[in-house]
Amino acid sequence: EKEPVKVLVTGAAGQIGYALMPLIARGVMLGPNQPVTIHMLDIEQAAEALHGVKMELIDGTFPLLRGVVATTDVVEACSDVNIAIMLAGIPRTEGMERKDVMSRNVSIYKAQASALEQHAADDCKVLVVANPANTNALILKEFAPSIPEKNITCLTRLDHNRALGQIAEKLKVQVNDVKNIIIWGNHSSTQYPDVNHATVTTSSDERSSGERSVRHLIADDKWLNTEFITTIQQRGAAIIKARKLSSALSAASAACDHMRDWVLGTPEGTWVSMGVCSDGSYGIEPGLIYSFPVTCQNGEWSIVQGLKIDEFSRVKMDATASELLEEKSLAYSCLG
Ligand code: NDP
Repeated sequence: EKEPVKVLVTGAAGQIGYALMPLIARGVMLGPNQPVTIHMLDIEQAAEALHGVKMELIDGTFPLLRGVVATTDVVEACSDVNIAIMLAGIPRTEGMERKDVMSRNVSIYKAQASALEQHAADDCKVLVVANPANTNALILKEFAPSIPEKNITCLTRLDHNRALGQIAEKLKVQVNDVKNIIIWGNHSSTQYPDVNHATVTTSSDERSSGERSVRHLIADDKWLNTEFITTIQQRGAAIIKARKLSSALSAASAACDHMRDWVLGTPEGTWVSMGVCSDGSYGIEPGLIYSFPVTCQNGEWSIVQGLKIDEFSRVKMDATASELLEEKSLAYSCLG
């Protein structure tokens, strides 16, 4: 039998954590033949709630679940983990300045960088979800220099999935038939959801089954260039307004998709969006954590190369890169 994979989830007593746990325990994230041990970390104030989640995991009688650690001790939580999903963060509440949120969150990521560097397994793959996700991941990367850059990523898959969902709704096709949408840049309202390379698999007519371009099928450039983009950028806010809570089940599901594709690979001909360390591709400053289209194989992602970028896209890709540069300098000024 396979050795269990150790999965760390920080901020595990929160709402995304609660939705994510059964997905990990059921093998949705790492496959139906991969046993797992879950390490849940949270702060002292959440310790009791965390214990409650542990009780529910035991009560779930998940065959793949080989152990659960629920702890407030960072060292115990990080010990030998192969995968780290970072949900812990202070939410931005009314009246809070961007700088306040930034300052508190980047300090958490600086501290956790050292803990992961010292105690996690050498091959540990890290996914940062907590906001500001790209910049938290950047801080983690900079303060954990011994973790390979390639192993530190942030979540933009939720934005990617939201974009697939909107296109599927518009065209009244199955979401599974839509692919190769791209989220460029920051997981914030400056992100650029790009459909220029997206396709839909059509099979209604057997003689002409194949892939058709989304731009061609929608043929409403105005909608694609305005309403579609703002719907994706503002989707998180729309969910908060409706639910009075931020998105959690879709965020957990997207975190699961991100890890599954990274570890088990993307299907042939399909790419997904991941926030990864820029190597300068598409003119994005090297070292920034920026969302790119990637394919994954053998546990490694690579940025899809050679896509044609039009002027409209260029402006939007650069705007979100500038925001990330600003966040980076704000983060460093907060860390002093
Ligand atoms: P959630 O589980 O709802 O969210 C966790 C983090 O994910 C937040 O930072 C949230 O940012 C972010 N996020 C990123 N993308 C999304 C998305 N699309 N939808 C929703 N959230 C997204 O937060 P909770 O407050 O329920 O739980 C957080 C947990 O972290 C708590 O258990 C708390 O105790 C713990 N915590 C730990 C700290 C530490 O380790 N030092 C410090 C602070 C908290 P946003 O709010 O901007 O949406």
